[in-house]
Amino acid sequence: MNFEEYSGVWVFIEENDGKIAQVSLELLGAGRALANKRGVELAGVLIGDKINGLSKTIFEYGADSLYVYDQPIFKYYRTESYMQALLHCSEKYKPEIILYGATSTGKDLASAVATDLPTGLTADTTELDVEEDTGLLLASRPAFGGNIMATILCKKYRPQMATVRPKVMKALSQEKGRIGNVIEEKIDLKEEDIRTKVLEIVRHTSKKIKIDEADIVVAGGKGLGSAQGFNLIHQLAHTLGGVVGGSRDVVEAGWVEHHHQVGQTGVTVTPKIYFAIGISGAIQHIVGMKNSGLIIAINKDPNAPIFQSCHYGIVGDAFEIIPLLIQAFHTALH
Ligand code: FAD
Repeated sequence: MNFEEYSGVWVFIEENDGKIAQVSLELLGAGRALANKRGVELAGVLIGDKINGLSKTIFEYGADSLYVYDQPIFKYYRTESYMQALLHCSEKYKPEIILYGATSTGKDLASAVATDLPTGLTADTTELDVEEDTGLLLASRPAFGGNIMATILCKKYRPQMATVRPKVMKALSQEKGRIGNVIEEKIDLKEEDIRTKVLEIVRHTSKKIKIDEADIVVAGGKGLGSAQGFNLIHQLAHTLGGVVGGSRDVVEAGWVEHHHQVGQTGVTVTPKIYFAIGISGAIQHIVGMKNSGLIIAINKDPNAPIFQSCHYGIVGDAFEIIPLLIQAFHTALH
């Protein structure tokens, strides 16, 4: 394999109902930094039906070029058809790196493309860098139960590929009017060639709270002692107009539902304010909240690891401090 034939950083642009997924904009930000370091182009790959109107936004968030496959056959995401488009594009233009969001679509597509090319894929990456001279992608992710960060390299194949968790990378601020180069592509794919048929789209609307969209998250851990003690977390969240988060241990104890879990096997959150109360600060928790704007930790153990990852730390008993905070915030806000 001649690595010199491969150049450029690509981002698979995920589109749902005519809207670009936020993670794709975040990846354009991360991809821009990699492309600049390598002195190469940043391109998006957009696959769908009637999607040309989206190109403007993709350039405004940092892409230099955009490969577009705009055909009715791509109306719905299907592994077989999207994979054919990406394989076609990748084999024709030979990028050195392709990034995908670690969403259900991104993970599905990336693994299928990696198998067929074939090349390596690092899943659920949380940090990205590139070696300026060799072009080797340094894709880091928590490993061995989150106890260490592993940096994974793909030394023998190109393109190098990674899926990246939503909310970990930062999108660039939108540069209105920034333009780029659109490359329209087509593949000859017939409906009968695709085994998967979309018969109906059933939208499942759930009343679940989206903690990854909240400005204030009040998260509690095992230090709250019981489901009853955990009620204080609900009360503080309610007073602040925030939502409740929890460590894995409180989810496992049944004090709060799984969709409130913050961390490696839960949700990644980046609220403006994050309270970590009675949470020890295990690495698996930290990876899910470390990019929050302001982190306030309350823990009775002055040596708790959470104090290494917060902006403000209060050493003390949650049962004394939370009621005081509720009272103070209630007076200030209501
Ligand atoms: P503990 O570690 O028991 O900490 C409780 C803390 O409360 C202590 O620091 C204690 O000092 C403090 N405390 C006790 N009483 C009080 C009081 N009255 N007032 C104030 N402070 C008090 N964890 C996650 O959170 N999210 C994940 O996504 C996740 N994924 C994981 C994936 C894997 C593969 C593995 C192996 C683990 C994962 N974990 C995850 C678990 C993680 O390692 C920790 O076990 C967990 O985060 C600990 O939860 P905790 O902080 O609530 O409990």
